[in-house]
Amino acid sequence: MVVLEDVNKHFGDLHVLKDINLTVHQGEVVVVIGPSGSGKSTLCRTINRLETYESGTITIHGDRLPEEGKALAKLRADVGMVFQSFNLFSHKTILENVTMGPIKVRGVKSADAKKRAMELLERVGVAHQAAKYPAQLSGGQQQRVAIARSLAMEPTVMLFDEPTSALDPEMINEVLDVMIQLAKSGMTMIVVTHEMGFARKAADRVVFMSDGAILEENNPEQFFTNPQTDRCKDFLGKIL
Ligand code: ATP
Ligand code: MG
Repeated sequence: MVVLEDVNKHFGDLHVLKDINLTVHQGEVVVVIGPSGSGKSTLCRTINRLETYESGTITIHGDRLPEEGKALAKLRADVGMVFQSFNLFSHKTILENVTMGPIKVRGVKSADAKKRAMELLERVGVAHQAAKYPAQLSGGQQQRVAIARSLAMEPTVMLFDEPTSALDPEMINEVLDVMIQLAKSGMTMIVVTHEMGFARKAADRVVFMSDGAILEENNPEQFFTNPQTDRCKDFLGKIL
């Protein structure tokens, strides 16, 4: 469970997260939407402690976010993150990309890490590409490898920041399908996306951010048919 209470963050004078209160329960899938610059990426990065924040508390399974050291490394392994750009290591094979974290951070034996990595690559549909290098794969395939790489660390929470927005249209669904499967398997997920089909199919809740604040949240059915604020109505009018 991820709990944010009254979280505030600035970049200089810019108040980028304003009194954020958000609870994501075990197994829940929360989709975050909102205009460009509203703070969605910053929210994800703050939960993973890639960014600091000035006030409020964030807890993951009841523990406050660690500042540094081993506890921070463990947090990063517990909270997987998949970005818009796939960020695979270009000089490592697909298999090595997936086994590296478990071997280096989790201390998993090489043979065990490989076995698990192949299972995960199978699950995301790219096992046959295991010996290739990232540049030899399509964007959709690379993003599925990035998801497998995160899952290899056995995270309890997964953050996705616009994982399909850098992809050609025909590759979007193959990545969304993997995410839908993951959601159905009970993973706790926070997903920034403008793919409303995903929100409708997989989200338990949709959160609308505007100007650093959460303006509304609701189940997808209510959210899309009955937006409460003018800003949200306006935004949905533009993207739907
Ligand atoms: P998008 O939909 O375009 O990805 P977003 O909702 O993810 O937008 P953020 O990237 O979280 O928005 O940015 C929120 C605000 O913070 C923006 O005004 C942005 O310019 C600013 N910002 C983000 N990162 C930094 C940074 N490292 N330094 C200063 N300002 C930043
Ligand atoms: Mg963003």
